[in-house]
Amino acid sequence: MNHTRDIAIDIVPIGAAADEATQAALREPAGKAASGSKTNIFDFDRASLEHFFEQELGEKKFRAHQVMKWIHHRYVTDFADMTDLGKALRAKLEERAVVHAPQLIFDKESTDGTHKWLLGMDPKNAIETVYIPDKGRGTLCVSSQVGCALNCQFCSTATQGFNRNLSTAEIIGQVWIAARHLGNVPHQQRKLTNVVMMGMGEPLANFDNVVRAMSIMRDDLGYGLANKRVTLSTAGMVPMIDKLGEVSDVSLAVSLHAPNDELRSELVPLNKKYPIEALMEACVRYALRKRGTSVTFEYTLMKGVNDQPQHARELIRLLRAFDNAVQMKDAAKVNLIPFNPFPGTRFARPDEEAIRGFQKLLNNAGMIAPVRRTRGDDIDAACGQLKGQVMDRTRRQAEFRKRLDAQEAGDAAA
Ligand code: SAH
Repeated sequence: MNHTRDIAIDIVPIGAAADEATQAALREPAGKAASGSKTNIFDFDRASLEHFFEQELGEKKFRAHQVMKWIHHRYVTDFADMTDLGKALRAKLEERAVVHAPQLIFDKESTDGTHKWLLGMDPKNAIETVYIPDKGRGTLCVSSQVGCALNCQFCSTATQGFNRNLSTAEIIGQVWIAARHLGNVPHQQRKLTNVVMMGMGEPLANFDNVVRAMSIMRDDLGYGLANKRVTLSTAGMVPMIDKLGEVSDVSLAVSLHAPNDELRSELVPLNKKYPIEALMEACVRYALRKRGTSVTFEYTLMKGVNDQPQHARELIRLLRAFDNAVQMKDAAKVNLIPFNPFPGTRFARPDEEAIRGFQKLLNNAGMIAPVRRTRGDDIDAACGQLKGQVMDRTRRQAEFRKRLDAQEAGDAAA
């Protein structure tokens, strides 16, 4: 399959529609502008909303609980519709607060059921959120930053640079928009069963907002997800892994991608600051704190770069050492991700045989190593393909033009 061409053909209408929608969105106030000086309730988890109700509004805690249920279980954002609150309280809330979700600019469903949303965070920035349904579960891939500062060589998000951190409201707002669209009812109609912080950005670089948003995901008054069904993925910010272990019980995934420092420093520049040994030690500490839980190591397979038998052998040694250190078999899980290409990348996906061969070496050594299959291929929704939109008209016009040219060239060649 000529992947590049598929993308080029498909993305042109997406690009065009998104362009119009973004223009329209620009005419309306968005993000902070719309909430003005009022407090956005989406920024609060249970503890901070209780505090807001008690300290700022002089109300009882359970009022905060009622409001959370209206928002996260019933998708009601207008205080006037929160009928079990007294009139006076509703009026007070209207005066002081808003429930302001990110703005839906564009969304698209893939033929395989994967759904992607382009969400406006402010008039200049948009991010992507992806829903992936799979036998009996539905996973939402959530972004934590606009862009990313880590510059991993094989990741499309890196090419747009870093703009800013997302607020708690902007992170949980992604879950809210997807859950509402899916008709998710926590505890009953569970369309959304898992969240992975694997969208755009490095979640540990936006620690407080991410932790607060994850607390809403796991709260019964929020989305009611079990701890292990919320996964945070990091490129390896060692001190923050320890900090996360202190405050949260979520599942940890680590983007390893290479079994030695020389190669990893090339692929994931953060490795120069926190090399593999320090990273693995932090993972051991995390796993030991949460006895009985495993850590997932993501390994994106790139043709001729990290997909050779010697890499598999080095990886096995590394993960065995991890299992031994936490004294648990299968404490380390590997997720093999065949590289997802994007325009302009120098990397390629290994062929199927090489992927299977690599997996077999790990399996033969007794390791759990599923291959994460690409979903939403036709809507550019795969790992490392999320790019969002940055409202730089010139650059976006140029990109759009380039895609158009690529499509024309592809058509001519056909
Ligand atoms: N910054 C965090 C969260 C991103 S998660 C982290 O690095 O873990 C996205 C996952 O997809 C990461 O494991 C990332 O390394 C991987 N990835 C990035 N680009 C990719 C690509 N083009 N193909 C396959 N996987 C990719």
